[in-house]
Amino acid sequence: MYKAPVEEIAFTLKHVAGLGQAIDDGLLGDLGEDLVDAILSEAGRFASDEIAPLGETGDRQGARIADGVVTTPDGWRDLYKSWISGGWNGLTASEEFGGQALPHMLNVAALEMWNSGSMAFALCPTLTMGAIEAVATHGSDALKATYLPKLVSGEWTGTMNLTEPHAGSDLGVLKARAERRDDGSYRIFGQKIFITWGEHDVADNIIHLVLARLPDAPAGTRGISLFLVPKFLVNDDGSLGARNDLFAHSLEHKLGIHGSPTCTMIYGDGRFGDAKGAIGWLVGEENKGLACMFTMMNNARLAVGMQGVAIAEAATQKAVAYARERTQGKAPGWSGAGQAGAMSPIIEHPDVIRMLLTMKALTQGARAIAYSCAHATDMAHRAGEGRQHWQERAALLTPIAKSFATDIGVDVASLGIQVHGGMGFIEETGAARYLRDARIAPIYEGTNGIQAIDLVTRKLQLSGGAEVRSLIAELKSIADDVRGSNRDGFGTTADRLDSAIASLEAATEWLLAELAAGNTAKALSGATPYQRLFGLTLTGCYLAKGGLVEAEDGKADSRIALCRFAAENLLAETSALKDTVTTGAASLAAARSVLA
Ligand SMILES: Cc1cc2nc3c(=O)[nH]c(=O)nc-3n(C[C@H](O)[C@H](O)[C@H](O)COP(=O)(O)OP(=O)(O)OC[C@H]3O[C@@H](n4cnc5c(N)ncnc54)[C@H](O)[C@@H]3O)c2cc1C
Repeated sequence: MYKAPVEEIAFTLKHVAGLGQAIDDGLLGDLGEDLVDAILSEAGRFASDEIAPLGETGDRQGARIADGVVTTPDGWRDLYKSWISGGWNGLTASEEFGGQALPHMLNVAALEMWNSGSMAFALCPTLTMGAIEAVATHGSDALKATYLPKLVSGEWTGTMNLTEPHAGSDLGVLKARAERRDDGSYRIFGQKIFITWGEHDVADNIIHLVLARLPDAPAGTRGISLFLVPKFLVNDDGSLGARNDLFAHSLEHKLGIHGSPTCTMIYGDGRFGDAKGAIGWLVGEENKGLACMFTMMNNARLAVGMQGVAIAEAATQKAVAYARERTQGKAPGWSGAGQAGAMSPIIEHPDVIRMLLTMKALTQGARAIAYSCAHATDMAHRAGEGRQHWQERAALLTPIAKSFATDIGVDVASLGIQVHGGMGFIEETGAARYLRDARIAPIYEGTNGIQAIDLVTRKLQLSGGAEVRSLIAELKSIADDVRGSNRDGFGTTADRLDSAIASLEAATEWLLAELAAGNTAKALSGATPYQRLFGLTLTGCYLAKGGLVEAEDGKADSRIALCRFAAENLLAETSALKDTVTTGAASLAAARSVLA
């Protein structure tokens, strides 16, 4: 069973991502390391002891629907109540609306633990947090006063309604429509698909944020507006009023995250109310809905990245435990080899050790990238000087955190099955669930292909390339520190880091030059390999940063050992990825005819 790696999480936050420095610099108010440890420890207890035991029930039972009423798996209603009573829903929300105004770094660490316990369950608050951010940033004072306190407490949950059958990655073609009313409200009509936690039984009201088009809106993405559409209308005294004209038509049958109800939502077909549409209120300005969504996208994408880290962590724990118990064959050099008939635990076999260390290194690397991204977001809100730099750092790291973490989530979960052998393919082991759950994360919240386009065409260009170059310079100084370190065990890490960083730098400069020359298709041909090159290089460097810390926690040697393993085994791929980015476009274009 999953046990939250609280110490590892705390170490990464403080020493790799920058939480410790931010506390020392007085940027986080009263927050001290003791409070950080207490929060992480209690979040870890809740995730391990309360969420994780119900994760398997959720997977087996799934969410069910009958006549538009959705029932969540056994125990999830009480679990949700208990989760919100712990105050976890409003960790980063403003104190004005009942939140705790804590840094994003703590929230992403907690999100990791909730998702390791059950990704399907954690999706519910993840969506609510997105809705809170949208309303807090763009909503009118009246909307904030009416909806934020209950969303922040978690008494009501939130959803994001973007996708339609013909409008997924390209929202410019969405058709849901909105009509203005004289009283300042709007009426919403249309169908949305794949809406996570669109209907359920864990909270009294569901606040839908819906993208729709006004009758006189310009075509494309410039004609989309954002509306707040509650399941139950709210009376002036805050009590719940009439049912609004919207409902869940059906639930999807999915590969994974079975406990999370993925709904087809129908707005304004007259099932409830006066047949004049679902009542909604504008969030932000008319026709600026997509811009509103974009301001919260960084956090939402990072939250999905945490799902990748979370699944990778849980899958690794399960695989290590199994590999210690399962015996097969005799590993070369195994201490028990002399005993007649004895078989070694599979964790003694070099190939299994390789799989487990790969899982550990990728998980820890993705965690460090994601936490560093959250740190940049916090600094962008709190640092006096250098805000623009931190905003750009967060923007640059977000697509990498989302895509690298969710890709390795799938890779690590798959390796976890491999470690289990045939039992990994059998559901009762639980390893298969991790792969099934992990597989959605590279797809939603902007597919990883869309993240790669964002990284290459927008994020590399920030400040004319200065932000990406400044990050590369920081990575070089980590490699220099390793070279100058007098600590044993790094092996050839410094050289391997140099080489990976050189590959990243060469690919980056090549992309910037091609983009400047207007060769967008050429640049985009290598966008996904570039994204992985970036993620792997950051993994190597951030593992080294952790290895350089002289912590007296008894784990310093194993951190260096994991760093060296990654540098000498995983980073060789970076050179090949650089070649793919810089020389792969011509053959990709030439081979297009193969698909004719
Ligand atoms: C379980 C689940 C939960 C979801 N939850 C929500 C939710 O709560 N709210 C919501 O609104 N939506 C939700 N979605 C929808 C999800 O965000 C979309 O599925 C996703 O954005 C991709 O859109 P699509 O499925 O239409 O794929 P498409 O856009 O058709 O993409 C198909 C493929 O083409 C690629 N592609 C598309 N356009 C481009 C391009 N311009 N350049 C390069 N490649 C491109 C994609 O990367 C992908 O590989 C959910 C989906 C699922 C399955």
